[in-house]
Amino acid sequence: MSRLVMKFGGTSVATPDRIKRAAKRVAREVANGHDVIVIVSAMAGKTNELVGWVNETSPMYDAREYDAVVSSGENVTAGLMALTLQEMEIPARSWQGWQVPLKTNGAHGAARIEKIPTANLDEKFAAGMKVAVVAGFQGISPEGRITTLGRGGSDTTAVAFAAAFDAVRCDIYTDVDGVYTTDPRITAKARKLDRIAFEEMLELASLGAKVLQTRSVELAMRFGVKLRVLSSFEEYDETAGTLVCAEDEIMESNVVNGVAYSRDEAKMTLLGVEDRPGIAAAIFGPLAEAGVNVDMIVQNISEGGKTDMTFSCPVDQVARAKQAIEASGAVEYGELVVDDNVAKVSVVGIGMRSHAGAAARMFAALKDEGINIRVITTSEIKISVLIDRKYMELAVQALHDAFELEKAR
Ligand code: ASP
Ligand code: MG
Repeated sequence: MSRLVMKFGGTSVATPDRIKRAAKRVAREVANGHDVIVIVSAMAGKTNELVGWVNETSPMYDAREYDAVVSSGENVTAGLMALTLQEMEIPARSWQGWQVPLKTNGAHGAARIEKIPTANLDEKFAAGMKVAVVAGFQGISPEGRITTLGRGGSDTTAVAFAAAFDAVRCDIYTDVDGVYTTDPRITAKARKLDRIAFEEMLELASLGAKVLQTRSVELAMRFGVKLRVLSSFEEYDETAGTLVCAEDEIMESNVVNGVAYSRDEAKMTLLGVEDRPGIAAAIFGPLAEAGVNVDMIVQNISEGGKTDMTFSCPVDQVARAKQAIEASGAVEYGELVVDDNVAKVSVVGIGMRSHAGAAARMFAALKDEGINIRVITTSEIKISVLIDRKYMELAVQALHDAFELEKAR
């Protein structure tokens, strides 16, 4: 019997009525011949409310009790979904994470999945159960305490189940109809992608296309789980949504498939640092210890034994970064220059591996708009630039046009 994983996010289970609508989609997949594992989120807004209650009760909370509280939203939707399916005469039951058990490490609030033994669910499926409804986002630690996987973690739960149960696919039902070439709020020309490679999705996800928890994409890539992102509010057909899949399942790729951005970046430059072994370590060691998320790093060529070191980080970490550098005293420098009015814009595409010219095209498009580039970094499938924040939207639009992303490949 083929297994299918279907995950419903918070807006898709926000009310009993919406749960009913989701259950109808599950029923159709059962009718298609699948044994279905349904992973549910808490009702929209519920987890935020629970986190609020924890903070109100105990600002320096015990993380184990935080998990006991915030995991509870998923218990409600799992039970309600099972009841709804039973009302439709589909053999279904709910499972909390610990009952499966979904085993995690003991990192409360951000636990990592260690193992999902399949015996319990397999036995029920063999006995005629058609749908196992599993509470997302939660598991059990080696000490037997309830854990949660971090915000947005039910995506990761879904992918982990798809891997463990060798599912044909993992469908992620959400409130958007798929993954877009860029943010449709920035350009109306943004187009829904039919397919996107895991690696492209990772680049887009970490850059702010908040459709999937990044960890879930990493996991899907590692285990080759086909992911489909689709809306639970739109009519369903076989081609709905976006398939996130391995590169070799995409026949012809455009050179660039997406334009990502990150609005609130800062650029910091240490002027006149010595050019000798150990300098980078002396700068970035203390930054790492202070928990600063350094992103781009550029070192100038040196003149007279001195060089400049530039890096970017989120704008709300500037004070922490400054403090870390000043407190460490491990490097001498002339001046620390901070520009907290920059944004990062990136073009992403696996086609860059085999086609030259993406960078030239990108820079020409920015030139045509009179946008100055402050920092450039590249990887195999991505080119990123730092520019003045006020030009961010313009840059995204110009790049979307330059790479003709409105046209299907
Ligand atoms: N309910 C959890 C959250 O809001 C987990 C999830 O929905 O993915 O973060
Ligand atoms: Mg989510």
